[in-house]
Amino acid sequence: MGKYKAHYIWLDGQQPTAKMRGKTRILNIGEEPPVWGFDGSSTEQAVGEASDCVLKPVFTCPDPVRGGENKLVLCEVFNTDMTPHSSNTRAALRAVAEKTAGEDAWFGIEQEYTFFEGARPLGWPENGFPAPQGGYYCGVGADEVYGREIVEDHMDACMEAGLNICGVNAEVMPAQWEFQIGPIGALAVSDELWVARWLLYRIAEEYGVSATLHPKPVLGDWNGAGAHTNFSTQSMRDGYDPIIAACEALSTRPDEHIANYGAKIELRLTGDHETCSYKEFKYGVSDRGASIRIPWQVALDKKGYIEDRRPNANCDPYLVTRMILETVCGV
Ligand code: ADP
Ligand code: MN
Ligand code: MN
Ligand code: MN
Repeated sequence: MGKYKAHYIWLDGQQPTAKMRGKTRILNIGEEPPVWGFDGSSTEQAVGEASDCVLKPVFTCPDPVRGGENKLVLCEVFNTDMTPHSSNTRAALRAVAEKTAGEDAWFGIEQEYTFFEGARPLGWPENGFPAPQGGYYCGVGADEVYGREIVEDHMDACMEAGLNICGVNAEVMPAQWEFQIGPIGALAVSDELWVARWLLYRIAEEYGVSATLHPKPVLGDWNGAGAHTNFSTQSMRDGYDPIIAACEALSTRPDEHIANYGAKIELRLTGDHETCSYKEFKYGVSDRGASIRIPWQVALDKKGYIEDRRPNANCDPYLVTRMILETVCGV
């Protein structure tokens, strides 16, 4: 009988930012990836005396790295009594997504990230700094962008995996890039974003390069890395009053959102570098210095979506999308 490799992927128990883990199981072709387990004492998810944690597959796609019949298998982590593990942030999103299903919410997440080679951003000089920011965003040429071959490989891999990747671009800081997933539902965008992140790390590995989601990889006059989260409900896609109502709802509890939008967010949301300070909340049309931006096309069409510019690159999309659903849809 033919066999295939199923690479199980899960989020560990590291605080404040989970890392991705994975291990491979050989299965018979035609066999669905079954529930499996791992040693939680090595991932900060259990103690040595009771180390078993349970992996429950929730999202499976073709594995573009190994090709053929091979698969990637994203999992939720459970305790052995089959209650969700405390590190399992997807479980709470499942409940909220179900309650708000009638709103038909869509999310599109812009994932920014930075390539590093050793201790320096990829392509940066050994001593000193590259020329100041200004010419790098969406740039072209060996003196402007670093790591494009990795970006292209990663984009192809996401497409082969069947993920809803909708674009990529070079960012404002050299060696910084972005890809976007969406627009799709909260669980789907989050699952696909985690798999796309895994593919990014895995493919960059082939080049001896690491990708980091650190929100402020270089201190000083260099842009941070975010995960702008674009959001709409059916009623927002139909009219403008619900767009404003969503912005107003988000203005009622900014602190709860900031607390769930990724570690070290205060390093990035300074009020400079196209951000609004984490201490403030404002929304506005076309305003890249606002917490929430209403795109100009949306203001013109009087319908569409809003962009929450606050989430960090290192955010957990299960938390971010749940916060937005809870606040805007009043769960
Ligand atoms: P920016 O101008 O902020 O760089 P991008 O083009 O990078 O914008 O990203 C726009 C994002 O908006 C994409 O992720 C896309 O999926 C998302 N998007 C588009 N329409 C909708 C919608 N109706 N609801 C939610 N997200 C949307
Ligand atoms: Mn973008
Ligand atoms: Mn960007
Ligand atoms: Mn954006």
